[in-house]
Amino acid sequence: MKIYDISMAVGAGMPVYNDLPEKKPVITVTRDRSVGEVFESRIAMDMHTGTHIDAPLHMLPDGSTMDGMDPARLIAPCSVLDLGHVAGGITAADLEAKSIREGKFVLLKTRNSETDEFEKDFVYLAASGAEYLRQIRVAGVGTDALGIERSQPGHDTHKILFRSGIIIIEGLRLKGVPEGEYTLAALPLKIEGAEAAPARAILIEE
Ligand SMILES: [Zn+2]
Repeated sequence: MKIYDISMAVGAGMPVYNDLPEKKPVITVTRDRSVGEVFESRIAMDMHTGTHIDAPLHMLPDGSTMDGMDPARLIAPCSVLDLGHVAGGITAADLEAKSIREGKFVLLKTRNSETDEFEKDFVYLAASGAEYLRQIRVAGVGTDALGIERSQPGHDTHKILFRSGIIIIEGLRLKGVPEGEYTLAALPLKIEGAEAAPARAILIEE
């Protein structure tokens, strides 16, 4: 059995969406050995930092939240799809070339995984690709970009997936993971009322 850690490290220097300084996590030491025997620290960051899972509330006003997401849905059979040739949006035609099966998680491995910097022209899932995955009825979709879509008016990609109950994972690191079949485990923090939450994601290869 082999485990791939497909999570981003969280820290002050990590890439964040649009490289906005206010989106960088801030980690503060609140107690150290100069005042006692324990070491404690605190983190302040966006819910959409690094590897994270989006809940429907992110895009749908009456959408559900992270604390209602069943963890059993996040330990699941998963296909990693190599889409390294795609620039721009991943379309239905790009996905038709892969044999995606109903009920699986699909992780989209793109050239985003080749860089540790935020790229403004990152590869994203086009609305036609989301519509294709909805028709196949996948369980979830994960991307190696910090956003599953890129400045699309109306946020169609998110909405198509959320309205179909398809889970969205963003900010995966898939460099070095071959295309193939795995078991995914991606467990988000159980944050009440939240529209997203950071997660530790791994792939298990049998
Ligand atoms: Zn997000």
